[in-house]
Amino acid sequence: MQSRFSNSQFALLTRHGKEKILAPLLESQLGASLLLTENYDTDLLGTFSGEVERKLSPLDCALKKAQLACELTGLNLGLGSEGSFSPSHYGFGTANHELIACINRQAGWSVVGHYYGFSRVRRQPLNSMAELYQFVEQTPADQGLLLRSPAGVAKGLYGLDAIETQLKDWFGNYALLGSAFAQELVISDDLRAHHCPERREHIQKAMENLIERLQLACPQCDTPGFWPDHALPGLPCRACGCPTHSIKARTARCGHCHFEQTYPVAEPEADPSLCPHCNP
Ligand SMILES: [Zn+2]
Ligand SMILES: [Zn+2]
Repeated sequence: MQSRFSNSQFALLTRHGKEKILAPLLESQLGASLLLTENYDTDLLGTFSGEVERKLSPLDCALKKAQLACELTGLNLGLGSEGSFSPSHYGFGTANHELIACINRQAGWSVVGHYYGFSRVRRQPLNSMAELYQFVEQTPADQGLLLRSPAGVAKGLYGLDAIETQLKDWFGNYALLGSAFAQELVISDDLRAHHCPERREHIQKAMENLIERLQLACPQCDTPGFWPDHALPGLPCRACGCPTHSIKARTARCGHCHFEQTYPVAEPEADPSLCPHCNP
């Protein structure tokens, strides 16, 4: 595959196996390769399990990881991946937002790929062994588990044996475990990429988005990332012509030279059912 990035090398900093997801896409879509560095513990920037508080926003964290990857490898192009979980925009369920930032240190640009979608990840306080068995039984074989108790946090656990061993380590025997159930014993999916197949899927989609964005360059200065991110509402109603909340155009803005281009949506008019005037 020929692209402006053919034969370039991108640095990536991770200890969570993300190179296995990103490298094949760089190779097949851009003709580029990946240089992995593990010389920095990204958990110092914050962990899902909360031992290290996240101080940066997910976006700043992704940019910071890309910057660190460049510094640690001496490369000019760096990638940084960061995910977050929150109540979804749709009003129910949990969403996972994955970001992959790409920076070019010399040229001074950054482009960020996104994926946002529902997540099936689970978290459950445990009151009995029966609840524990049920939770583990419903876990896909390649999904790691995380246990949290007053005694500590254990991650990357697979299967009932590993969990029972951990509980024994903490509580010695099942008499003590009885009192643990009455306290705060919580089981959840391990959200780190190398223990969470769903995140790996979403990271791949964010990377696909990043690659698309990298291939769209500003028509004026050729900086990558010329992507129509800014939505403009006000599509006119087909019946009365009033502006609706529907999107009428999307604008791409160059972060480098500030050139703008607006792309109208394919449908010229909104359905009257979406019109605040016809259908208040
Ligand atoms: Zn109308
Ligand atoms: Zn430009």
